[in-house]
Amino acid sequence: MALANQKGGVGKTTTAVNLAAALAARHRVVLIDLDPQGNASTGLGIPRAERGAGSYSLLVEGRPLAEVLRETSVPNLSIVPADPNLAGGELELVDLAKRETRLRDALDQGRDALKGVDWVLLDCPPSLGLLTLNALVTAEAVMVPLQAEFYALEGVSQIIQTLDRVRAGFNPSLRLEGIVLTMFDRRNNLSEAVATDVRGFFGSQVYDTVIPRNIRVSEAPSHGLPVTLYDPRSPGAEAYAKLATEFLRRHRARMRELAKSEGA
Ligand code: ADP
Ligand code: MG
Repeated sequence: MALANQKGGVGKTTTAVNLAAALAARHRVVLIDLDPQGNASTGLGIPRAERGAGSYSLLVEGRPLAEVLRETSVPNLSIVPADPNLAGGELELVDLAKRETRLRDALDQGRDALKGVDWVLLDCPPSLGLLTLNALVTAEAVMVPLQAEFYALEGVSQIIQTLDRVRAGFNPSLRLEGIVLTMFDRRNNLSEAVATDVRGFFGSQVYDTVIPRNIRVSEAPSHGLPVTLYDPRSPGAEAYAKLATEFLRRHRARMRELAKSEGA
């Protein structure tokens, strides 16, 4: 599943890291950091100076997945970090063969390294360039973190259009997993108004779980930990645990529907 939204600072990385960590309590999870800023890598205890080969090597140099997977501070959660070279990756990809499907091909070829892995999350950069395109071509589904602010609906319509284009060109079964409201401030009338609008427009595609603005969430990365481990009792950690539960519940409901329609 990709976490995508062309806007920066809406909570993609925070949601990728903390949903991954919450899922890792019961499942095996791999997170692939596709943002040259590498915040997911830092947030999981791999500082820039210690990155070595990562998603750039995987996508651009064709290095095998098994060689770029790393353990994190969280049991059952591995990461492909963003190596420092990834900043140039967006441009270098332009001239490569099969530039849109390099991540999909790399994961296909590396499927042995993914044996026993239940979920792979892809943290995208804040743009709709080739790195994000690679993620959307690879993923089965996309989760769109959305900060409840004035232009939120416009931003989300841009990503929805992108999903349509990716479906038409590369990945017909790409699904919108859902929209997740992040950094929500209940004391702010605008937050409530935007949430009502987004729910009115997207209905059940909006997750019930809302992630509140919480200082512990923003402190955790500087300790190299997800908030679910840094301060499990904090409102932010509890919200991400709930998000994981809702994610799994929706997954099971989908599987039941699928089994029903196949039985019919
Ligand atoms: P993106 O990956 O979309 O650019 P981030 O996940 O990096 O966004 O979040 C942007 C900033 O907001 C970061 O500094 C992060 O720590 C902070 N942040 C994200 N979610 C929360 C939250 N629920 N409460 C407080 N701060 C948050
Ligand atoms: Mg990010």
